[in-house]
Amino acid sequence: MNLQILYDNNARNGFKAGWGFSCFIKTSKENILFDTGWNGNILLHNMEIAKINPEKIDKIIISHSDWDHIGGLNHILKYGKKSEVYVPKSISDNLKNEIKRYTNVIEISKAGKICENVWTTGELGEKIKEQSLIIKTEKGNVILTGCTHPGLESITEKSRGFGEIYTVIGGFHDSDIDILGEIPMVVPCHCTEKIEEIKKTMTESYKECFTGFSIYFI
Ligand SMILES: [Zn+2]
Ligand SMILES: [Zn+2]
Repeated sequence: MNLQILYDNNARNGFKAGWGFSCFIKTSKENILFDTGWNGNILLHNMEIAKINPEKIDKIIISHSDWDHIGGLNHILKYGKKSEVYVPKSISDNLKNEIKRYTNVIEISKAGKICENVWTTGELGEKIKEQSLIIKTEKGNVILTGCTHPGLESITEKSRGFGEIYTVIGGFHDSDIDILGEIPMVVPCHCTEKIEEIKKTMTESYKECFTGFSIYFI
């Protein structure tokens, strides 16, 4: 299992930075893209640098419909494989219809299995509903978030029903971060407002997020 950040405000080694988030997940059987950043050209550039072929993406999962998470979607669907797109059920019908011009839309409301070792928390939160991913590894579960609009507390609470959490990776927005104290590895990405506080207080568990960041799990 490999996870690689493809879109973030920080970038290294030839990757381009931009406001938004996207992460590639390679399981033993499937290639999954979680969110698509804002700019499709930047996303495709970063995929090229990472040697990820857009035609080999099997599933695209959209955490929520904010512009910095869906902006690259039409590019990927236009130039890549017409992968199935998993969206929170509550997103607008207009957006669902635009995606349906290219491919199948799978609407997610409840927690459930996406494929082997990958689960969705289902839609959480009230104002902006969002789904996060729970990825099973030997070290414990990897939680992948978009912007964390529902709050880390509700996402981690839901995820704990699936087993121990090893790491949380993604944008944490304005979420309360106290809950992260018990988690062995914390990777705050693009929209995390309390990033300085995390760096200062979680010196052991904090890992820097940047486009190109890659991590392997068994
Ligand atoms: Zn958002
Ligand atoms: Zn965001």
